[in-house]
Amino acid sequence: MAFDNGVIDFRSDTVTHPTPAMRKAMADAPVGDDVYGEDPTINTLEQKSADLMEKESGLFTASGTMANLIAVLAHCGRGDEAVMGNNGHTFLHEVGGISALGGVFTQLIPNLPDGTLALTDIKNAIREEDIHHPETRLFILENTQNNCGGVPLSREYTNSVANILNPQGICLHIDGARIFNASVALGVEPSALVETADSVMFCLSKGLCAPVGSILCGSNEFIKKARKIRKQLGGGMRQAGILGAAGIIALEEMIERLEKDHLRAKNLAEGIKELPGIIFEKGLPQSNMVFIKLSEDVGISPENLIKGMAETDILINMSGPGSFRLVTHYWINDQDVDKFLFRLKYLIERP
Ligand SMILES: *Cc1c(COP(=O)(O)O)cnc(C)c1O
Repeated sequence: MAFDNGVIDFRSDTVTHPTPAMRKAMADAPVGDDVYGEDPTINTLEQKSADLMEKESGLFTASGTMANLIAVLAHCGRGDEAVMGNNGHTFLHEVGGISALGGVFTQLIPNLPDGTLALTDIKNAIREEDIHHPETRLFILENTQNNCGGVPLSREYTNSVANILNPQGICLHIDGARIFNASVALGVEPSALVETADSVMFCLSKGLCAPVGSILCGSNEFIKKARKIRKQLGGGMRQAGILGAAGIIALEEMIERLEKDHLRAKNLAEGIKELPGIIFEKGLPQSNMVFIKLSEDVGISPENLIKGMAETDILINMSGPGSFRLVTHYWINDQDVDKFLFRLKYLIERP
């Protein structure tokens, strides 16, 4: 089921429109002033989110970027160090906000192809007490790890990281923008994937189709601090329940169906595998993303592939030189996958 205008959009799961049930819930949502804590819809959404993650409290934010920023600002003071993967969203795509706005110093560890950070690298990254060193306050893990192929990190891995950090009083934040994709891919409850983390962020506005918003979860004390930082950043919203209503539908109706997106990503990859000259740069899909690269001997340039696809209302974009990330979501059905494969074959084989 492409969008109403017939467009099939593989560029990201951020392009998803709200579902009809969401639009109805938004129209009917009871609201109040959320800065006063009086929006019943937001209060329900935050409580449901905290319950799902088995954390004490939740906080609705305007975006995932804002939730990650708030988390880092709540965990770290100016000059403190946050350690993260070199392929992580916070390092690559958040405009350096933690440094610009929080004065937080970044240390990078290479992400391994499976999305993890090596445990030895984590141990080595922790600074000893020394007059020359910043304080290592925080580590960030991303689950699923987007840039490594949309790969899920296991419960065991996350817990082994926490086991290194906990005794030293260093916090662990999970950038779980797509934590529900990880949960569905692994067949594990989302709460189990964050059980030893101090905080977790997840997006309502990606595969779950809500139009706006992310959630930050953690202890009561942490969220109290986070709520004040959100206000400081100008992110205190008023009748936000209009947006939150879609988030409630996202959590109630849109998580289990992610399985379908994962199956379609697999089918997409299987279909592409039949064609010559296309490389699976980051392996076969484990969630809702397929990463491909055109080899030198494919008879079409990446730019012309984008144009040729757009002529039939199929949108793709480059994730690197000659590389594409194809993302499946609610607004792409089996027929749309077939249309893509048919068009790809035509464009590649055309003399
Ligand atoms: C999308 C994304 C974010 C940020 O979310 P926005 O709502 O787009 O700001 C953070 N982390 C990861 C891994 C993401 O994929």
